[in-house]
Amino acid sequence: MRCPFCGEEDTKVIDSRSVEGKKKRRRMCTACGKRFTTFESVERPLLMVAKRDGTYEPFNRNKLLAGIFNSTKKRPVRMETVQELVDGIEAELANEMVSTVSPDRIGSMVMERLRDVDMVAYVRFASVYLNFSDVADFIRIISEMTQSPEKFTAQDA
Ligand SMILES: [Zn+2]
Repeated sequence: MRCPFCGEEDTKVIDSRSVEGKKKRRRMCTACGKRFTTFESVERPLLMVAKRDGTYEPFNRNKLLAGIFNSTKKRPVRMETVQELVDGIEAELANEMVSTVSPDRIGSMVMERLRDVDMVAYVRFASVYLNFSDVADFIRIISEMTQSPEKFTAQDA
């Protein structure tokens, strides 16, 4: 962090506290001795998604949002609801302080939440995410839906 007074790059943190999700840092310049305050975003560990083919890619919030929006198309699901859903997933992963997560885990975290939001969106998401490769899973989901038809039709009206 460069000193705003003399331009020196070597500054020392003399105090640090969290303010509204940001780090407020009191710094002192090692060259001119002047003090100044900075607000910095709290660095979270970079979350990587460990893909099935053994490669990694950074967790992409927008990609996840797009996937969920795709399944809520023409459904009475508010945009804010989907954003909150993703906020919840991000918060849960941040609290665990994990640095890698599997797509399976993310998928089930979405399904777990989407289930309570909209059954049609839930099944759509599940069909893409699970590829319905496992016929037994598909049958299980459909039978769960028919077991709670009120949930399925209530939001359909
Ligand atoms: Zn300075």
